[in-house]
Amino acid sequence: MQKISPIKKWLGAGSKILLDTIFPALCPRCNEAVDEPGSLCADCWGQANFISPPTCFHCGYPFEYEVADDMLCGNCISNPPPFTRGLSVLHYDDVSRDMILAFKHADRTDRVPAFANWMSRTAAEILKDDVLIAPVPLHRKRLLKRRYNQSALLAQSIGNKTNRRVAVDLLLRSKDTSSQGGKNLKARFKNIRGAFSVNPVWQDTIKGEHILLIDDVYTTGATVSACASCLLRAGVRQIDILTLCRVVRPVSMSI
Ligand SMILES: [Zn+2]
Ligand SMILES: [Zn+2]
Repeated sequence: MQKISPIKKWLGAGSKILLDTIFPALCPRCNEAVDEPGSLCADCWGQANFISPPTCFHCGYPFEYEVADDMLCGNCISNPPPFTRGLSVLHYDDVSRDMILAFKHADRTDRVPAFANWMSRTAAEILKDDVLIAPVPLHRKRLLKRRYNQSALLAQSIGNKTNRRVAVDLLLRSKDTSSQGGKNLKARFKNIRGAFSVNPVWQDTIKGEHILLIDDVYTTGATVSACASCLLRAGVRQIDILTLCRVVRPVSMSI
């Protein structure tokens, strides 16, 4: 449900022109003024690489050719993930990296509503009435340094837009893992093992729940898989994953 800010209420109908002059809608990548809040400018739109079907049924890996709806990628066939569906909005590339880095490290939290809009649309089919949305948590030390968990902001905004329940503190990051950047696939999975636990306050209530786990970037799937395994052990019925971006060919890169 859309909330109306007090200033908009006070100004009433016809206020859009005035508000657009005071707070113009900006492109979430380059800050050019745009007509609609949350939309990319024509230039960035032309460069943005949105993920579209066909994709792997489990992890969302985009195929370059037409396949059956329930087709799996090679990774999911040889090593099935602990989650059911994985969906992402954008390829992780130069365009989306600009947006993500500003959002994660430069306090550009004003981009959250635009990102949450895109993510809600991408996950429309799995955002069922009974879904419980939860973010991948940051370790306390990193949270203190950054002051906000970007995945929690996305989770809250998606919950507000779609009227779904959000459990911001469902998972705890009990191990302060070093950055996953620069590590290969095996090292990423090893590094993150045992890093997460279910918050004791949720332990008794999440049995049988359907969880939609939110993160900003899906690189190898190591982080979301560690979270999903931990939730499965706690008795969760189904876990789906929704990320803003997806690295399509895992390579060593700093995120
Ligand atoms: Zn732009
Ligand atoms: Zn897959």
